[in-house]
Amino acid sequence: MVDVQDLARYPFLEEAQDYVRNESGTLDLILRSELGKSLLEHASRRVRDTLAQKNPEECGVYGRDAKEDIFTYVLARMLVSCINDRMLIERLSQFEARRAYSWFVREDRERMVRIAERVGIDLERPTLPVVAYVGLIGPLNDERWRLVNRRVENGHVSLLPEEMQELVEERIRAIIRERLPLIVPEEVCRILRPYTDEIAAALQQRALDEFGEVDESSFPPCIATLIKAVTAGTNLPHVGRFALTAFLHNIGLSTTQIVEVFQRAPDFDLSMTMYQVEHISGRAGTEYTAPSCATMRTHGLCVRRDEACEKVSHPLSYYKWKKKQNLYTVRKSSR
Ligand code: SF4
Repeated sequence: MVDVQDLARYPFLEEAQDYVRNESGTLDLILRSELGKSLLEHASRRVRDTLAQKNPEECGVYGRDAKEDIFTYVLARMLVSCINDRMLIERLSQFEARRAYSWFVREDRERMVRIAERVGIDLERPTLPVVAYVGLIGPLNDERWRLVNRRVENGHVSLLPEEMQELVEERIRAIIRERLPLIVPEEVCRILRPYTDEIAAALQQRALDEFGEVDESSFPPCIATLIKAVTAGTNLPHVGRFALTAFLHNIGLSTTQIVEVFQRAPDFDLSMTMYQVEHISGRAGTEYTAPSCATMRTHGLCVRRDEACEKVSHPLSYYKWKKKQNLYTVRKSSR
C-alpha cells in the first residue's frame, strides 16, 4: 500500500487526509473554481446516493478518476457536516463503510490482513477483547452478535475468521462516524449552501416517504403503552420519556405535537417538557434516534409484544411495517 487508487478505496486512512491536504491548495479557491463546482456536484450525488440507500458497488466512481473520487469523499463529509443531521451522518458512515468493505473483500489475504490492521483488527487472531467487541456490535441486530450468544474466555470473545472480516466493516463505519461532523467554517458552509439546501430537501422528502402521515393505530405496543401511561398520569422514568419523545420525533411529529402528547399528563409542565423535547429533537446539536428493541428490553420498556414484534428489531421498523399493512388492508377493503 498505498497508491492513489488505494486511497480512493479507503479514503478514511490517514494517508488520504495527507494526500488531500497536499493536493488541495486553498480549499476556498478550489470551491470557487469550475473544477470545484464539478467536484461538488459529484459529492452531492454521493450524499444523495447514501440517502437513497443505493448499493455502493453500483454507484461507480464519483468524479473523473480516483483523485477526484478522494476529493468528493472529503466534500461529501463537509456537506453533511454543514447540514449536521444525525440520520444523514449515520447513513453516510454506513454507505462509505460498505463501499470500502466491498473493495476489502476483493483483496488478497495479505492485503486484507494489512488493511484490517490499519483499523485495529488482527485477522490472524480471531478474538476481540470484550470491551472492543461490545463497542463494535452496537448497530448489528442479528442475534448471533449478542454477547450472550458468544463464547467468552479470559475477557476475549471468540469469533470465526469470516466474522472478523465482517467486523472490519463495522470498524470502518465507526472510524468514519467518530470523525463526523467536521468543524466547517461558516463561510465555507455558505459557499456550499446551494448543495446543502438540495440535500436537506431530499432528506425531508425521504423522511416523509418513509413515515408519511402519522398513524397512531400503527404504533408498536411499547410506544402505545408509554402514551397510555402518560395519559393516565403515570410518572414515566427518564428513559421512557426519552424513548417516547425520540420515537414521535423520528416519525415526523413537530415539537408542538409531541408536547401535546405529554400535555395529556396531569402533572404536565410546559416549559420543562418543551426543554426536554427540543433537546431530544436536536436543537442542542445532537438529534437522537429512538432506542432499539434490545435497548427497550434492557430497560423493561418492551411490553405487550405482539406478532409483528417477531419481525422487527426496532420500534420504528414496527411502525413502518404496520403502517404498510394497514394501508394495504384499507386499499383491499375499498376495492
Ligand atoms: S419488540 Fe420492539 S416494537 Fe415490539 S414491543 Fe418490544 S420494543 Fe416495542
